[in-house]
Order: sequence, then structure tokens, then C-alpha cells
Amino acid sequence: MKTIIEPFRIKMVEPIRMTTKRERALVLEKAGYNPFFIPAEDCLIDLLTDSGTSAMSTEQWAGVMRGDESYAGSRSFFRFEGVAKSLTGMRHILPTHQGRAAERILFSLVAGRDQVIPSNTHFDTTRANIEFQGARAEDLLCDEGNDLAVRAPFKGNMNLDALKRLLEAAGPGRVPLVMLTVTNNAAGGQPVSMANIRATRDLAKSCGVPLFLDACRFAENAWFIREREEGYRDASLMEVAREMFSYADGCTMSAKKDGLSNIGGFLALNDDDLAARARSMLILTEGFPTYGGLAGRDLEAIAQGLMEVLDEDYMRYRIRSVEFLGEHLTAAGVPIVEPPGGHAVYVDAGRFLPHIPPHEFPGQALVCALYLEGGIRAVEIGSVMFGRRGPDGEFVPARHELVRLAIPRRVLTQSHVEYVVEVILEIQKHREEIRGLRFAREAPILRHFTSTFEPA
Ligand SMILES: *Cc1c(COP(=O)(O)O)cnc(C)c1O
Repeated sequence: MKTIIEPFRIKMVEPIRMTTKRERALVLEKAGYNPFFIPAEDCLIDLLTDSGTSAMSTEQWAGVMRGDESYAGSRSFFRFEGVAKSLTGMRHILPTHQGRAAERILFSLVAGRDQVIPSNTHFDTTRANIEFQGARAEDLLCDEGNDLAVRAPFKGNMNLDALKRLLEAAGPGRVPLVMLTVTNNAAGGQPVSMANIRATRDLAKSCGVPLFLDACRFAENAWFIREREEGYRDASLMEVAREMFSYADGCTMSAKKDGLSNIGGFLALNDDDLAARARSMLILTEGFPTYGGLAGRDLEAIAQGLMEVLDEDYMRYRIRSVEFLGEHLTAAGVPIVEPPGGHAVYVDAGRFLPHIPPHEFPGQALVCALYLEGGIRAVEIGSVMFGRRGPDGEFVPARHELVRLAIPRRVLTQSHVEYVVEVILEIQKHREEIRGLRFAREAPILRHFTSTFEPA
């Protein structure tokens, strides 16, 4: 059969409140044309993020009921630890309330002034946690990754030549670790090949530097390796994932993505001494090492989610539903980042709305059009998020003007995705009428979250 169906039945439903275009125009105006200020109830299809928005399975909910809420040594912790150890092969597993808590603990111990931490591309919280310690976060993305339109299998890869140069130039002690983000979220959700993980490990090891994975989407990455890389056709997703982790000395993980959970994360480490120091930090801000800021029921949901995410049928459906959206947009001539990533499709708003100049935020204008036309909430990844003010207050645009359509896991049906395609094609018909925006109130930092806008 060609049709890949959702490999689940729906047992509980959450109604969507239908809205009219007229209502949405009012909501949009009230929200200052910023999707972060739109109440979730007023969204028909919420594609703001794939983080923490997954639907949990019957077994996860059963785990929630079984959660052992003992302060120390709870049964739920041992189940969680067992699953995380068997997956990563790492000696120490520290639960945290989110991925960024694992990052904060790690970088407060290893990063400091005059140090530099290279990555294929740092996620924004990773970069912020590194910079907060006074160290430098360096993005070394491969060349294909920088070309939005080119179709290549592993556009998330590390630029190995650039890494080699950086490691040689840095000198001893200046690079506490090398990081690889799988899949590469900030670079379009593109995967990293096993060959690239291995080569990154070899380079780092030759300089005595450990390799860490930012493993939020390890299972989606494992799928792409199996589909696109020589030598993995007959491996299970678990085998591919284990091999990925086998090259790393540690990882940070947000369970809100491929953990199929609504909250949680962990830090995994092989180094005994580093793990002992990380546990002390964990107690200081997160909690005792057998719960780390989570409830026992959360640990159960994560343990179960980490196994379910490696289910072949789940992942085939997952990747296909994102690809389906991408294919239909491409076929209609809507420019997207090629090929579609694991968790999201990124529309190139700069090319879709060429009449809107970067300083009038084509990405934000498209985000507003998506909401107005179809009640779809997306997020701009362009000059609102990454543009800056120069020394004289002048506008410095971002490199690309993108809109991310992130697909929550197991939440939408095929007809929801078809609806999203239809809305975008409807917008395409009258796109030259879409107007740009200007700031009504410009927030000084992380301005995509709290700025407001008005039509230009
Ligand atoms: C979401 C994310 C994080 C941070 O995780 P939180 O759970 O949101 O704190 C880190 N890295 C990547 C690649 C992510 O996508």
C-alpha cells in the first residue's frame, strides 16, 4: 500500500474551537501581530513548536498512574535510568526538568572565559548557556547546510575542515568539548550522518576533547541514517541510535521532543568525576538525583516515550507526514528549505513574498497571513528573531527569512495536514496583497517573544 496511515487509533479527543476569519482578524490585532500572544484556544492548527506538544500513548498514561513519587530511589527513576542507560550506553543518567537545565549544569562545570565550544549548529538555549559562562559558541555547519534550496541527504553535518582548523588553532585546554546537534534544529531539522558523527569524534579525540550530542531528536536522526546512508538498511532504529551514542562521551537531552513527553530531560555522562560534580549542581537547583525536578510519573512517561519513539511504524508515519506537507508545497511552487526536515517544514518567506523587504519582516507577515486565513499558528525565523540593530541603530537583517511549520508528534491527522496545504495555497493566490509589518514595540532581547507589530 502506498498510503502510510497513522499507526494509532484515537481514544480521547480534545475539541478544536472553530473560528471565523473576522474573529481571527480581531485576535491578531489584539495580539499585536505576534503569534506568541495569541491564546492557544484561538488556534485551529498549532504549529508553533514540536516541543512538549506530543500526544502521549495509553502505555504512557498507564505509567503516569504507576508513578512512584518517593523522594529518593523511586521505582520510576530506576525504570527511567534503565531505559536511558540501555539507549545511550552511558554510565551516569541525571534527570532534569528540561533540556536547558542539563545544558546549564554541563556548561557551568566545563565552560569558562577564553574557551570555545564548536557545534554543527548550537540551539539557541545551548548558545545562551555557553555564552552565560563567558565562553564562545561557534557554529560550523557544512556548506550544503547553508544553501536552502539544495537537496542533500545530510545538510545538518559538521564542517570537518573548519572543526580541524578550530581545534588546531585553539591550543590545549581551550575547547572543553565538541557538540553535535542531532537532528540540527536551528539548521532546518536536517540530519547528521553516522560518518560525520564518527569523523567528528575522531577529530575531537585526536585532540583529547570529548564529544557530546545534543540528542533531542536522536530517533528522527536515526531514521534518516537508515534511509539515506550506506550500510544501515537492515539495522533497527535502536541499533542505529545506539551506534550514534557510542561515539559520544555524554549528551544533553530534552524529553519534550523525541521523548514523546510533555516535560523533562536528562544529562548523560561517562566521566565519573564530572558526573559527581554535576550531581551536586543538580541537587542545588533541580532536586535529588533520582528525580531531578520531575515527578515520578514524568519519569515513567519519558521511559516509555523513549522506547515508543523507536517504533518503526511510528517513525515511518512521523517522517512521512512532514514530507507530505513539504512535497505538496514544493509541487505548488511554494519555496521551502529542501529537503523537509524531521520535525518541521520551513517556508522561505523571503522568496514567497519578494515584494516585502526584510525590514518589513516577510516571515512575520506570512505568519500573520497563515493565522488570518486558516487559524494556523507558526513561528518566524528571520529578521524578527535574528535581525539586529547596528551601532547607529540601523536595521541589520537575518541571513534568511523563514517561517517554521513544526509538526507536533501524534497530534494531527492527515486531513489536518491537507488543510494546512490548502490554506497556504490559498494565501499563494493573493500573496502580492500581503503587506509588511513594523514594530509597534520592540523588545530589547529575544524580541520574537514579546515585541508587538502593526501593518507597515
Ligand atoms: C528544545 C531544544 C533544546 C532545549 O530543550 P528544552 O527542553 O526546551 O529546554 C536544546 N537543543 C535542541 C536542539 C532543542 O531542540
